[in-house]
Amino acid sequence: IGGHPKPQEGPARVAGVKRVIAVASGKGGVGKSTVSANLAVALARQGRKVGLLDADIYGPSQPRMMGANKRPASPDGKTIHPLIAHDVTLMSIGLMLDPDKAVVWRGPMLMGALQQMLGQVAWTHHTGGAPLDVLIVDLPPGTGDVQLTLCTKAVVDGAIVVSTPQDVALLDARKALDMFATLKTPIVGLIENMSLFHCPNCGHEAHVFGHGGVKAEAERLGLPFLGALPIDLDTRLAGDAGRPVAAGEGVVADAFADLARDLVA
Ligand code: ADP
Repeated sequence: IGGHPKPQEGPARVAGVKRVIAVASGKGGVGKSTVSANLAVALARQGRKVGLLDADIYGPSQPRMMGANKRPASPDGKTIHPLIAHDVTLMSIGLMLDPDKAVVWRGPMLMGALQQMLGQVAWTHHTGGAPLDVLIVDLPPGTGDVQLTLCTKAVVDGAIVVSTPQDVALLDARKALDMFATLKTPIVGLIENMSLFHCPNCGHEAHVFGHGGVKAEAERLGLPFLGALPIDLDTRLAGDAGRPVAAGEGVVADAFADLARDLVA
C-alpha cells in the first residue's frame, strides 16, 4: 500500500535547443530586452541557429524590437509555430495577448504560460528540424515566479545579468545574482548598459548613470565582466523601429558581435 513515491521532476532540456541562456536584470528599463534582441541578432549574423523567447510577461517588448507582430500559427491547436525575424526564431507572450490589455496574472497562470512557451513551441520549425544552437530567454526584471519557474523546470545553461552603472540598479542586480546562485544557475557574466554617452555633435563624453560600477561588482564577485554598451540614440531608435542595431553596422553592432562571439566561444 502507498505505492512508489512520485519521482521528483527536475529541470528538463527544452526540446530542440542545445543551450539556453537567460538574460536577466534586477530592475526594469536597464536594457535587458535590448541586449537580448541584439545578442540574438548578432548570433544569427554569425551563422548560429538562434531562438529568442520573450518571457517578460508584464512588458513583452520583443514583438516591437524585432519587428514581428503576427499571431503565431498553431495548426493542430497544440504545437505553436514561432515567428522568424532577422533570422531569429521568435516567440513572445506578447504575440498571444491583446497589446492594450494589462496582464494581471497569478503565479500558477504565469507558470502555465511559460511552460507552454517552453514546451509547446516548435523551436526547430524554421530549421528543418535541426536544433537551435542557442535560445535566449528575455526574463522579466526582478526575482519572481517566472525566473523561478524557468530555472527549476528547464535546464538553463547560463544567465547574463544586465545593469546600468547606477547604484540602485546595481543593488537590484546583486539580488538577481543571488537568486541565480540559489537556483544553481551558472552566471555567464555581467553587462554594463548605458555606460557612456558620447555626444554626436560635440564629441563630449558623459557618464550619465556613472561608470565602471558593473565591472567593479563583477570583479568583487569573481564573475566575468562581458562588456559595456554606450547610451546610444541609434540603439533606441533601432529598437523602436523593429530592426535591432546589431542588424546594421557601427560601433554598437560591433560590440554586440563581440559579445556574441564570446558567448559561444
Ligand atoms: P528592460 O528590458 O531592461 O526593461 P529595454 O531594453 O526595454 O529595458 O530598454 C528600455 C528603453 O531604453 C528602451 O526604449 C530601449 O530602446 C532603451 N535603451 C536600452 N539600452 C539603450 C542604450 N544602450 N542606449 C539607448 N537607449 C537604450
